[in-house]
Amino acid sequence: MTSNTSSGPEARREELAANLAEVRERIAAACAAAGRDTGDVTLVAVTKTFPASDVRLLAGLGLAQVAENRDQEAAPKASECADLDLTWHFVGQLQTNKVRSVASYAGVVQSVDRARLVRALSQAAVAEGRVLRCLVQVSLDEKEGRGGAAPSDVPALADQIAAAEGLELGGVMAVAPLGEEPRPAFERLARVLNEVRLSHPAATIMSAGMSGDLEPAIACGATHVRVGTALLGGRSAIVR
Ligand SMILES: *Cc1c(COP(=O)(O)O)cnc(C)c1O
Repeated sequence: MTSNTSSGPEARREELAANLAEVRERIAAACAAAGRDTGDVTLVAVTKTFPASDVRLLAGLGLAQVAENRDQEAAPKASECADLDLTWHFVGQLQTNKVRSVASYAGVVQSVDRARLVRALSQAAVAEGRVLRCLVQVSLDEKEGRGGAAPSDVPALADQIAAAEGLELGGVMAVAPLGEEPRPAFERLARVLNEVRLSHPAATIMSAGMSGDLEPAIACGATHVRVGTALLGGRSAIVR
């Protein structure tokens, strides 16, 4: 995927453009297979470990949604890209002491998984004078580890978000469990979203699917796919 004949911003731009075209084709094919409209699936570029210059190139290629999973990395990148019309999604495990910073640049926090975080995000959004769209991160794993609320805890968390000042309930998000067929997991997520929507019909977002499993996610109803590697290339650094 890396260019060996030329380098510099133009070569990188071409590489990203080719990757983007490929990802868009995969999304279109998955939508066609599922009988869904391609316009119903939003591509969110996960730019963690990649420089702000890549975010800028992606914005130039028409991408408006970008995601990061660590505030230490996201905050400076968002500020370097402040002149671009981007929506920043926060998708990582979030400590309450980082919430104020995240609320200063993020439009969407996809990883809300506990009541204490809802309270902190609400306070921070009010203090920043912004509205944060929040997704409840759902753990599709019986064993804990990668964050996310147990499916049975999701409706109550959704109610809390919907009632919190400065927050807006967008829907749900999940990462497929490692070493498991993704499709049954995404079907569980779709059922959790349906349950949430009984009380919150405007919560329509199902954020699921990454580079390796966006097709089964779209088949199960994902409205947002979060794609890193397939767009930007492999990550060399250790990333949680
Ligand atoms: C890194 C990351 C992604 C993107 O993963 P790829 O396999 O590189 O597409 C998606 N979602 C979350 C929460 C991530 O941390």
